[in-house]
Amino acid sequence: MSRKFSAMVSGLLMLAGAAAHAQEQGTAPAAAPEPAAATAAITVATREIPPFVIREGDGYSGFSVDLWRELASRTGTQFEWLEKRNVAEILSSVDAGEADVAIAAISITSEREQRFDFSQPMFESGLQIMVPQEQDSGFSLSNVGRYFTQGAMPYLLGILALLILVPGHLVWWAERKHDDSPFSRHYFPGIFHAMGWALSAAAGQQNDNPRSRLGRVTSIAAIFVSLLFLTYWQAELTSSFTVQQLQGGIQGPDDLPGKRVGTLTGSTSAQWAATHQVKTTEFEKIAQAFEALEKGRVEAVVYDSPVLLFHAASSGRGKVRVVGPVFKKENYGIVFPPRSGGPRKTDLRKKVNEALLRMREDGTYDRIYRRWFTTEE
Ligand code: GLU
Repeated sequence: MSRKFSAMVSGLLMLAGAAAHAQEQGTAPAAAPEPAAATAAITVATREIPPFVIREGDGYSGFSVDLWRELASRTGTQFEWLEKRNVAEILSSVDAGEADVAIAAISITSEREQRFDFSQPMFESGLQIMVPQEQDSGFSLSNVGRYFTQGAMPYLLGILALLILVPGHLVWWAERKHDDSPFSRHYFPGIFHAMGWALSAAAGQQNDNPRSRLGRVTSIAAIFVSLLFLTYWQAELTSSFTVQQLQGGIQGPDDLPGKRVGTLTGSTSAQWAATHQVKTTEFEKIAQAFEALEKGRVEAVVYDSPVLLFHAASSGRGKVRVVGPVFKKENYGIVFPPRSGGPRKTDLRKKVNEALLRMREDGTYDRIYRRWFTTEE
């Protein structure tokens, strides 16, 4: 985890603490309604996505909200909010001309760049994984059991069973009437003895030497087959008998295939999952995915790292935790209609970009960032 990101984590923890404190004191700031929309006001689509957009009464607070208010004031833009449920709806509203601008936690992607115009990046983000606090991650019997039932293991065990059953029967059948045969004539005692012999043959050791020709041929064949089998078994053990596998649970993106994973419909996480053999349940609202995780209906949620960290440090505290690295870096941007949208809107994007860059230069951006993500270095 980069220094910056770890600072962000601690910042988020501090933030959650501060929010709880403010509520206890009854000092949570009431959101000021936006200035009454003048006729020239533009419509800004957004959605609730803490800590970027937090609903407070009739208004909003959050990193993106503070950033946009500052940008609007610097560019002399009057605006009114239009709330949508998720990123797909936000983008459709800009597409349909219902909204002139959109800001929330919208990732800049090549596919979206074809349909819209983005501002300069306004926030560095990425995807991460959230799991239940009590993820089954111990070295338990059930995890060891799972190890023997996953991957190549069941096949290896099947081959081992064949290596015992087939030569065991062959040798007993060939040996049963031989006078000085070590194996009993009777099926059950004889076959148990012969299978014990085959098992030790599979392990590379043969104690009882068969007397018959077929018994000897089987014995030699069993040695060769076992040798190959043991080599393969050993290779399989070294490649997959890892602590992580025994620990079970989800530690990072590589553990997600085959797990029940929740995410938000139309999001970059859903796109990532679709191209990485991760089957997901897509929810309309990310809060539904968080609830499904807490109720055990999904085993993990893949989503934007800062949003997961904020949830884990606030309402999900003690119930969920974020694991593994930020595995896909993304930047958030402000969305504008494509150039065909008309000169006024194109012009606004230019003004917003200039103001955003100036805010990065004059320290305003950092101040807003620190307000929401970092309270100490
Ligand atoms: N950053 C993600 C995306 O743009 C999620 C945004 C959201 O859920 O609003 O797809």
